[in-house]
Amino acid sequence: MALDSLRQLYVEQLQDLYSAENQILKALPKMAEAAKHPQLRDGFQMHLRQTEEQVRRLEEIFQSLGERPGGVTCEGMKGLLKEGDKTLKEKADSDVLDAALIADAQRVEHYEIAGYGCVRTYARMLGRQQDVDLLQRTLDEEGQTDQKLTQLAESVVNLDAAKGEREVGRGAYREGGATGATGATGRSSGTSSSGDVSAR
Ligand code: FE
Ligand code: FE
Repeated sequence: MALDSLRQLYVEQLQDLYSAENQILKALPKMAEAAKHPQLRDGFQMHLRQTEEQVRRLEEIFQSLGERPGGVTCEGMKGLLKEGDKTLKEKADSDVLDAALIADAQRVEHYEIAGYGCVRTYARMLGRQQDVDLLQRTLDEEGQTDQKLTQLAESVVNLDAAKGEREVGRGAYREGGATGATGATGRSSGTSSSGDVSAR
């Protein structure tokens, strides 16, 4: 198909995202199963449900465009998920594996954020406000997922992964309880999950 209009580019990019989302649908259950931290497992499962809804939103857009969603393979996502697959096969400490799963998942989310940001903007250019609303909802979900992963990594998973390696992390993260006050102000008040850390 020739890319001779913004509408055509819009459709192609949507097809690429549709392929990406469907690949993610298959990968997320495996990632959830491999995750040791319950918050990470729950997070992957929740994002699986969101992803199902994101696929549904794309189908709604294709229907209103009178276009077909299939027939395209998102090679970028295929590559990212191949890397994720490699992580799953790694002989790893379970905490370090969770940190690696987060790293893989954040690459996926950033890829999606780039893609959805573009199509959302094309939809706006093309005057397709209904599409803009649907795509923005997905874009927000991907952004929130990325933020949650960062928060979980910084407050729990990376700390567990670094246990026994404190000399490596000296000064970089939380040092012993004596500097608790500094630590408390150092963490942004938005990271309410810091409670999880002190409970451990
Ligand atoms: Fe998605
Ligand atoms: Fe996502």
